[in-house]
Amino acid sequence: MECKKCGRPAVYVDKRSGTALCEDHFREGLEERVRKEIRSEGIGKDRRHIRIVMGISGGKDSLVMMDLLWRVEREYDVELIALTVDEGIEGGEYRGKRFDLIRRMANERGIKWELRSFKQKYGFTLDDSVVALKGREEPCSICGVLRRRALNDYAKELGADYLAIAHNLDDEAETVLMNVIRGDPQALRRSENYADELAAFYVPRIKPMRRITEREAAFYAYLMGIPAEEEECPYARLSLRDQVRSFLDSLARDHPAVLDSLVRFGDELKEKGKGFSRSRCASCGYPTSGGREYCRVCEINFAVKKALIGANQEG
Ligand code: SF4
Repeated sequence: MECKKCGRPAVYVDKRSGTALCEDHFREGLEERVRKEIRSEGIGKDRRHIRIVMGISGGKDSLVMMDLLWRVEREYDVELIALTVDEGIEGGEYRGKRFDLIRRMANERGIKWELRSFKQKYGFTLDDSVVALKGREEPCSICGVLRRRALNDYAKELGADYLAIAHNLDDEAETVLMNVIRGDPQALRRSENYADELAAFYVPRIKPMRRITEREAAFYAYLMGIPAEEEECPYARLSLRDQVRSFLDSLARDHPAVLDSLVRFGDELKEKGKGFSRSRCASCGYPTSGGREYCRVCEINFAVKKALIGANQEG
């Protein structure tokens, strides 16, 4: 097969459009989508210096994002910082190997790497919270809530203008479907374009990979020599996301446009939620949703600390 753009031998065929591309045009296509995504956020428009803190877990997608942003940012006055939040997950070499890889990739690109942890921020690790809550909460749900806040707050501390998250198109589609399955219309409408009074709490988030599929990110990683994840998080198989991913994978084989359709559907609902205001957590003051007295971070925090104190007293 030949590249649609230059006629050289193709290395990749996009299943959705049937387009065949050579290595150079495949890479250029991905860079262009990242460029478009960050331009849509206004980055590079007024030529001012911008600091982007990237949430880097060490998983394939986050490393692909680091590489793509590093290539694209050279066109703008952008400073990149890689931020990793160690959740505190034991189990094999899961974290250690990833940290070595992040350090190496950041060094090779002259990017500063900052490492923080749940333990530092909350006083307990994810493993502690899973044991303390004894199956009452899905580990990924605790992890997602705590990591999101930790990334935001540490990015703020680092003086970020934007926080970049490595969600790809598949992740975005999964999130939309998960919110449908959970029957959570508020989450579907919650826009990241917060009302003015909420903006002070959050570093604006950008998702440079949201138009790039999992398959494209994996192929880019292969081309660029970014190692595949050898070990997966020990909690991954327990998550709703994992089941939704398997379902969407099989659905997308016969209906390749399903991911784009779900993301478009989610975007339209978010558009309607722009400027959406929320009440405040009675403990930390951060915005809450669904009329809760406390935000999810504080709810988890209280429940884990209560359980840990109870366990210490019993011991
Ligand atoms: Fe956290 Fe779940 Fe991801 Fe593991 S798989 S890092 S628990 S969100």
